Amino acid sequence: MKKHLNEQEVLERVAGQRDAASDEHVRACPECRNEITRLNDALGGFRTTAREWAETVRREVAVRPPVRHRGFGWQGLRLAGVLAVLLVCLGVLLIRHEGPRAVEMSSTADDAVLERVDAAMSRSVPSAMEPLSQLVPTQRKELALKEKVEGAN
Ligand SMILES: [Zn+2]
Repeated sequence: MKKHLNEQEVLERVAGQRDAASDEHVRACPECRNEITRLNDALGGFRTTAREWAETVRREVAVRPPVRHRGFGWQGLRLAGVLAVLLVCLGVLLIRHEGPRAVEMSSTADDAVLERVDAAMSRSVPSAMEPLSQLVPTQRKELALKEKVEGAN
Protein backbone atom coordinates (compact mmCIF):
# COMPACT_ATOMS: atom_id res chain seq x y z
CA MET A 1 0.00 0.00 0.00
CA LYS A 2 1.18 3.47 -0.89
CA LYS A 3 2.08 5.78 2.02
CA HIS A 4 -0.50 8.34 3.17
CA LEU A 5 -1.40 11.16 0.81
CA ASN A 6 0.52 14.31 1.48
CA GLU A 7 -1.15 17.69 1.87
CA GLN A 8 -0.74 18.51 -1.82
CA GLU A 9 -2.36 15.25 -2.90
CA VAL A 10 -5.25 15.68 -0.45
CA LEU A 11 -5.89 19.16 -1.80
CA GLU A 12 -5.73 17.92 -5.36
CA ARG A 13 -8.34 15.27 -4.58
CA VAL A 14 -10.57 17.87 -2.89
CA ALA A 15 -10.16 20.02 -6.01
CA GLY A 16 -11.34 17.08 -8.11
CA GLN A 17 -8.03 15.82 -9.52
CA ARG A 18 -7.76 12.08 -9.18
CA ASP A 19 -5.42 9.39 -10.23
CA ALA A 20 -5.63 5.62 -9.95
CA ALA A 21 -2.92 5.30 -7.28
CA SER A 22 -4.43 7.78 -4.82
CA ASP A 23 -7.92 6.40 -5.55
CA GLU A 24 -6.79 3.01 -4.47
CA HIS A 25 -5.10 4.38 -1.32
CA VAL A 26 -8.12 6.44 -0.25
CA ARG A 27 -10.38 3.44 -0.74
CA ALA A 28 -8.16 1.39 1.52
CA CYS A 29 -7.11 4.08 4.07
CA PRO A 30 -9.81 5.47 6.37
CA GLU A 31 -7.38 8.08 7.71
CA CYS A 32 -6.88 9.70 4.31
CA ARG A 33 -10.57 9.29 3.48
CA ASN A 34 -11.45 11.14 6.70
CA GLU A 35 -9.01 13.89 5.92
CA ILE A 36 -10.48 14.39 2.45
CA THR A 37 -14.05 14.30 3.79
CA ARG A 38 -13.16 16.81 6.52
CA LEU A 39 -11.63 19.21 4.00
CA ASN A 40 -14.55 18.73 1.62
CA ASP A 41 -17.03 19.53 4.38
CA ALA A 42 -15.07 22.59 5.42
CA LEU A 43 -14.81 23.78 1.84
CA GLY A 44 -18.48 22.96 1.30
CA GLY A 45 -19.41 25.15 4.25
CA PHE A 46 -17.18 27.88 2.92
CA ARG A 47 -18.72 27.56 -0.55
CA THR A 48 -22.22 27.80 0.90
CA THR A 49 -21.28 30.83 2.99
CA ALA A 50 -19.63 32.53 0.02
CA ARG A 51 -22.65 31.82 -2.19
CA GLU A 52 -25.04 33.17 0.46
CA TRP A 53 -22.90 36.26 0.95
CA ALA A 54 -22.76 36.88 -2.80
CA GLU A 55 -26.53 36.45 -3.01
CA THR A 56 -27.05 38.93 -0.14
CA VAL A 57 -24.76 41.48 -1.79
CA ARG A 58 -26.53 41.03 -5.13
CA ARG A 59 -29.92 41.57 -3.45
CA GLU A 60 -28.66 44.69 -1.60
CA VAL A 61 -27.26 46.17 -4.78
CA ALA A 62 -30.55 45.49 -6.58
CA VAL A 63 -32.57 47.15 -3.79
CA ARG A 64 -30.29 50.14 -3.29
CA PRO A 65 -30.96 53.01 -5.69
CA PRO A 66 -28.00 53.93 -7.86
CA VAL A 67 -25.87 56.60 -6.21
CA ARG A 68 -24.79 59.18 -8.74
CA HIS A 69 -23.10 61.82 -6.58
CA ARG A 70 -21.90 60.89 -3.17
CA GLY A 71 -22.06 64.01 -1.01
CA PHE A 72 -19.73 66.74 -2.12
CA GLY A 73 -18.01 64.72 -4.81
CA TRP A 74 -15.92 65.57 -7.82
CA GLN A 75 -18.77 67.50 -9.46
CA GLY A 76 -19.24 69.64 -6.36
CA LEU A 77 -15.54 70.31 -6.16
CA ARG A 78 -15.49 71.43 -9.79
CA LEU A 79 -18.48 73.69 -9.20
CA ALA A 80 -16.78 75.23 -6.17
CA GLY A 81 -13.65 75.87 -8.25
CA VAL A 82 -15.66 77.57 -11.00
CA LEU A 83 -17.45 79.69 -8.40
CA ALA A 84 -14.16 80.71 -6.80
CA VAL A 85 -12.73 81.76 -10.17
CA LEU A 86 -15.90 83.74 -10.95
CA LEU A 87 -15.73 85.50 -7.58
CA VAL A 88 -12.08 86.45 -8.12
CA CYS A 89 -12.87 87.81 -11.61
CA LEU A 90 -15.81 89.79 -10.23
CA GLY A 91 -13.60 91.18 -7.48
CA VAL A 92 -10.92 92.26 -9.98
CA LEU A 93 -13.56 93.90 -12.20
CA LEU A 94 -15.05 95.76 -9.25
CA ILE A 95 -11.65 96.99 -8.06
CA ARG A 96 -10.79 98.19 -11.57
CA HIS A 97 -14.17 99.87 -11.90
CA GLU A 98 -14.10 101.52 -8.51
CA GLY A 99 -10.40 102.34 -8.56
CA PRO A 100 -10.20 105.86 -10.09
CA ARG A 101 -13.40 107.06 -8.47
CA ALA A 102 -12.21 105.91 -5.07
CA VAL A 103 -9.01 107.92 -5.48
CA GLU A 104 -10.97 111.03 -6.51
CA MET A 105 -13.24 110.64 -3.55
CA SER A 106 -10.36 110.21 -1.17
CA SER A 107 -8.90 113.64 -2.02
CA THR A 108 -12.15 115.37 -1.10
CA ALA A 109 -12.76 112.98 1.74
CA ASP A 110 -9.38 113.91 3.22
CA ASP A 111 -10.55 117.47 3.81
CA ALA A 112 -13.78 116.28 5.37
CA VAL A 113 -11.91 113.91 7.65
CA LEU A 114 -9.51 116.65 8.69
CA GLU A 115 -12.41 118.96 9.46
CA ARG A 116 -14.05 116.28 11.54
CA VAL A 117 -10.80 115.61 13.39
CA ASP A 118 -10.44 119.36 14.03
CA ALA A 119 -13.94 119.54 15.45
CA ALA A 120 -13.36 116.50 17.60
CA MET A 121 -10.06 117.90 18.91
CA SER A 122 -11.61 121.24 19.87
CA ARG A 123 -14.31 119.44 21.84
CA SER A 124 -13.54 118.97 25.53
CA VAL A 125 -15.83 115.94 25.84
CA PRO A 126 -16.61 113.29 23.23
CA SER A 127 -19.91 114.01 21.49
CA ALA A 128 -21.49 110.93 23.05
CA MET A 129 -20.79 112.32 26.52
CA GLU A 130 -21.97 115.88 25.85
CA PRO A 131 -25.45 115.42 27.37
CA LEU A 132 -23.78 114.06 30.48
CA SER A 133 -21.41 116.99 30.73
CA GLN A 134 -24.36 119.39 30.81
CA LEU A 135 -25.58 117.71 34.01
CA VAL A 136 -22.27 118.33 35.75
CA PRO A 137 -22.06 121.95 36.88
CA THR A 138 -18.92 123.66 35.64
CA GLN A 139 -16.92 125.96 37.87
CA ARG A 140 -18.27 128.99 36.07
CA LYS A 141 -21.87 127.91 36.61
CA GLU A 142 -21.15 127.30 40.28
CA LEU A 143 -19.67 130.77 40.61
CA ALA A 144 -22.71 132.32 38.96
CA LEU A 145 -24.95 130.40 41.33
CA LYS A 146 -22.91 131.57 44.36
CA GLU A 147 -23.10 135.19 43.23
CA LYS A 148 -26.86 134.86 42.80
CA VAL A 149 -27.23 133.47 46.33
CA GLU A 150 -24.96 136.12 47.80
CA GLY A 151 -26.81 138.85 45.88
CA ALA A 152 -30.09 137.71 47.35
CA ASN A 153 -28.76 138.00 50.89
ZN1 LIG B 1 -3.63 7.18 4.03
